Amino acid sequence: MSLWMARWRRCRSHEQSPSKVLAELWRHLRSLPSKLGHFSLASAGDGVPPGAESSVRVRSDDLLPIDLREVATYLLDEGSTVANSVACVLNTLNYLALCSGHAPVPTVMPERPLTNPQKQVIDHVRQALSHLENSGEQVAPFARMADELREAKFDYAGEPILMMEDLDAEQVIAAWSAVGQAAVQEATAFLPDHIRDKLNDPRSCLLPLHEWPSRTPVSKVRASDEEWHKVVVAAHERGLMVPLDPEDVFKDASGVPVLNGAGAVPKFKTIGGQKRKCQRFISNLIPSNAFQARIDGDDKYLPYLGQLTLLEQESDQVWLTDSEDFTSSFNLFKIPAAWHNLMGFGKLVDASAFGGPAGRKVYPAIPMGWLSSVAVVQAIVRSLVFDHAAVLRLTEVTKMRALPDSGDLTVIYLDSFDELRRLEKGCKEALDESMSDRHARFLQVCREKGLPLNESKRLVASTRGTLQGGLLDGDLGRYGLSPDKMANLMGLASSLAGHEQWSEFMLRHLVGKATFGMCFRRPIFSVLQGVFSEIQCRAAFNDMAAPAATVVDEVLMVLCLVPVMFTSLKAALDDEVAVTDASPSGGGAAVATRFKPPPLTVDSDPRVCHECGSDCSNRARYPCPAECGAMFCSLACVMGHRDVDRPAAGECPRRAWRPPRFGERFSGPRAPLSHAVALEGRIEVQPPFDLHFGLDMFTDHGRSELQRLMDDEDLVAEHWAPECKLFSRARGRPITLEDGRTIQGPQPVRDGRHLMGFPWLPHETRARVRQSNNMVLKALKRGKDVNRPNRYWTVEHPYRSWMWDFTLVKELEQEPDFSHAVGSLCCFGGQREKWFSFFGDLPTLPQHLAIDCPGHQGLLSCQVTQRADGTLVYPTEEEAEYPWRLCTEYAAALTEQLNLDGRFDAMVSAERERYYLDELAQSTGRLAATPVKEAVAATLVKEEAHLCQTEERAHLRALLRAATYRGTDVRFFVELDTEDQPELHEVPYLALRWDWKTILAFPWKEDGHINELELNAVAVYLKRRSLDKQLAEFIDLLYQEGEPISYAGSSQYFRNWQRCYVPSRALPASWDLVEGLMGLAFHNGQRSFGLLLALGFNCLLRTSEMLSLTHKHVVFHPRRNGLSVVIPGSKTSQGNPQVLLVTDRQLVQLAKDIICPTSGWGYVVLSVVTVDATVTRGRWSCNKTARQYIDEGTAQLAHASWSAPQRHSVRTWSRFLLRVPREATVATQAPANCAVGSHDSFLG
Ligand SMILES: [Zn+2]
Ligand SMILES: [Zn+2]
Ligand SMILES: [Zn+2]
Repeated sequence: MSLWMARWRRCRSHEQSPSKVLAELWRHLRSLPSKLGHFSLASAGDGVPPGAESSVRVRSDDLLPIDLREVATYLLDEGSTVANSVACVLNTLNYLALCSGHAPVPTVMPERPLTNPQKQVIDHVRQALSHLENSGEQVAPFARMADELREAKFDYAGEPILMMEDLDAEQVIAAWSAVGQAAVQEATAFLPDHIRDKLNDPRSCLLPLHEWPSRTPVSKVRASDEEWHKVVVAAHERGLMVPLDPEDVFKDASGVPVLNGAGAVPKFKTIGGQKRKCQRFISNLIPSNAFQARIDGDDKYLPYLGQLTLLEQESDQVWLTDSEDFTSSFNLFKIPAAWHNLMGFGKLVDASAFGGPAGRKVYPAIPMGWLSSVAVVQAIVRSLVFDHAAVLRLTEVTKMRALPDSGDLTVIYLDSFDELRRLEKGCKEALDESMSDRHARFLQVCREKGLPLNESKRLVASTRGTLQGGLLDGDLGRYGLSPDKMANLMGLASSLAGHEQWSEFMLRHLVGKATFGMCFRRPIFSVLQGVFSEIQCRAAFNDMAAPAATVVDEVLMVLCLVPVMFTSLKAALDDEVAVTDASPSGGGAAVATRFKPPPLTVDSDPRVCHECGSDCSNRARYPCPAECGAMFCSLACVMGHRDVDRPAAGECPRRAWRPPRFGERFSGPRAPLSHAVALEGRIEVQPPFDLHFGLDMFTDHGRSELQRLMDDEDLVAEHWAPECKLFSRARGRPITLEDGRTIQGPQPVRDGRHLMGFPWLPHETRARVRQSNNMVLKALKRGKDVNRPNRYWTVEHPYRSWMWDFTLVKELEQEPDFSHAVGSLCCFGGQREKWFSFFGDLPTLPQHLAIDCPGHQGLLSCQVTQRADGTLVYPTEEEAEYPWRLCTEYAAALTEQLNLDGRFDAMVSAERERYYLDELAQSTGRLAATPVKEAVAATLVKEEAHLCQTEERAHLRALLRAATYRGTDVRFFVELDTEDQPELHEVPYLALRWDWKTILAFPWKEDGHINELELNAVAVYLKRRSLDKQLAEFIDLLYQEGEPISYAGSSQYFRNWQRCYVPSRALPASWDLVEGLMGLAFHNGQRSFGLLLALGFNCLLRTSEMLSLTHKHVVFHPRRNGLSVVIPGSKTSQGNPQVLLVTDRQLVQLAKDIICPTSGWGYVVLSVVTVDATVTRGRWSCNKTARQYIDEGTAQLAHASWSAPQRHSVRTWSRFLLRVPREATVATQAPANCAVGSHDSFLG
């Protein structure tokens, strides 16, 4: 190994381009004494060296392995560097596919020509490499990278942390921002309340006494007295340090002052075109931090780069970036003075450094930056962006939430504010590269607050932007590790591979940066495994040692895969969703492309009444009030469908559901209002209550029935229309007839002082008045009692009715919710002007009914006329029924209000919730627990509402956005507040709402660990899917070339396909279906087609045989006793003609009638035949097939059932067929004899 390393070092002695490095590595890999090395040797075609663990068995029928010798040929024209570098990357992929885990290296790699998908892989890798190559980044030579590898420390993001140096005032000051650009604002001005309160009260941030460190940690200030003084003077000028009296310094439990350290790390800054070394001042606040609890700030909102790989765009879209950076956010904001005593540095300076009296010694303190800085700075910048610049919070990308569903995104990471815009390409040009409004607002806020921004880093409408350390190319649709970091990572990895002795530190450095890069393409993480135990090993012994060969392999694989550390944001969503599952014995897969119809709905023909089957395509259709999807011809059919107690033809699958109900009292004989409300849907209508339906309020039966209707719990609205005849004010006034005569009108029964009726009325009249009073009072009392929130009541009487003077009305009129809707029938299609008032508490009603009459042409008069017998005719009585439009307006008003109240949706939610509660109760213990169950059920119902057919892609997109911030899996949670701790509970995914098709179920050939089997199940599905595609392409090709499809049978693919393909036979046609089809054919005037169907059925003709039949092929026998059907060439007759004899008299008659129309014909009846006869008739080449077909067909027929609309149309059309014949001579059945042969009947 060390020999190899020495050779590798020599090769890496100078700067090289990334491709060059990989090409060189490919040359060297073959001599690497490790498994990867052996594999590379075999791949190159040289076979494994003796002694290596190898196997002759190699899987070679997948996408991988790609034969590298073929790759060399494929890329011949690109030059050797390209070909070798691509080979180097592909070799790693091959290795991962074949030899990961403990699989042995293949002895020889089988030769295999490139398939099209493999070519795509090669092109993809080549493009990735040239993308990196074209960036111009170079990989630094071994020696330089070795220095970096050894010296730099790194933080969690892979950023190097350099060694602390002593402070040099000049260098420190050079790195600081100018005077007036630091400590410009109070932090508290930009914080949400809970953080501001903490910040104003440092004591609340201290840990409880018992958690204080027993010994105060010590951190020293790395500076001479002289330099320290200079630093403090400059810091004071900039507001970066304040004086702290030694008395005030915070003391630990034993009274020891807690003071912090300071130092510097080197930083290179270009000043006047020259690179100068400066120092970044570092305050080491470890001592004071040890006494504080972390503030619960906004650090939890930090975005995570993996989440950004979920961005997506169509091919014609671009992402634009607008970006701002604060020059030094941690220095911009001052924290309250109360904190200063915790922030002192452990080195006194003369007070004169702060402009104070010389001679007094003070501690300098830093007014910013400590344990909670990240939490606080993130909170400050979020407040600047969302509160001050009014950017929508919904656009924020944070690991707390799913990626926002918008083309505008906001990414805040401490001092940087990036916003992303997704635009159509054309749109982008029109924009003329201007900044977005949001961005402009943010700049404005920063200017106002005097917060300096780093203008050199500003991006406006840029298609290339750095985000979270990654490079977003909004044009290409690519988000990945930036090219300079790629080159750097390659340099580090190749440098590490050249070291014979590795330290824990070097490994950690590489792995830190590698894992950062892998975030841009998560699957690469699978490369690393051995390095982690190697790091632990090194840490335990704290030494340098030669690395294990497997770890060298892993490092080299990282090196090879650096060019593909990116994600394509233009990757398309698949049209198919798949699930796979595995058990120890077998696996399976199912796919879906659409959702199921909503739960508990019927798939019915909307043109046909679901209950009685009558055709209602030309009529108003009543929907099922529970929205099960069924449609009805009448209110009675709706009620039959919904009535739980009555058997219904088309029973409602949602019978148990309780939609809001409406009831009409005193509806009149036709109850148009009830019908209008029923037609609206989503409201269940009670049977109308009226004397005309035998419901008399003045009998016990009628009363109890009315009470029952009123007590209905689901009742939400009632309308009352009590009898009004005896309430007219016109009574008693003289009537002028048409001819000018004036006669006495009907006698008055009440007046303002005798509202309940005159006491002197004759007995019979008084009884009638009392009855009408009772009806009105019943209605009005109900109005008083029913008035509960979201329950509506209305009553209607003519505008000039005495009823409006009743005390009960006057009382209700005082209530705020009650109002009159006054209008005239003429405005709703009525024939006369007749004014009414609807009084009640349905808020939407007046908008619909209270119309100022504009006057109408052609109204009928209200003139009273006298019949010959002397009785009077009151035309207004003809208007006793509401005109239809009045009813529809009322129904619309009611629907509007109930929708506003969300009554129906609430009912659906409640029903679905109940369903899920039942399901969950039988689920795992975790989900069956009560509070969890309820929360989960509610969430599922909410989710389900989005899973509508045609919304599948939108749903898949939403799933993609909801992937965890790591960009790998999607999980759903509900948050439950239990006592004080919020608890997250996982919610199952509603997979049951997809319309799954099982495509695969298979037993395993070999045992395996369940994890492995699960993964294999995915692989089997993917393979089968590509197989389907390839087979389809092949068959298509055969078809185009005119080759027989049976050629497909010669391929291995076909056999594989057959293995997992379950043939399903077509269902045989039944006689009633054929009858129906014939009826339809006759209806459309296609008589010969109808005959053909009958002949085809009778003679068991194949479709192709039916299609080639002409009238010449039908030969009639003399004396009407049969006909012969001649089949010129059939599938099973080897080209010889076959003749079939038809003896069914009706069919013969029908044929004669159509082919040579002379006489009438009769109804065709299916003849009963024996199986043997059928077999002969069907002319199967193999008896066994025939029997199988007939048996299975019969069995299938027995199980097959029509859906209601199917049954209906078959019935309709076969009935039509019955009506067609002129002389319907319904014949008796005669056993069909048939003769089959090539000669005998042909002569006839
Ligand atoms: Zn019906
Ligand atoms: Zn229904
Ligand atoms: Zn009108």
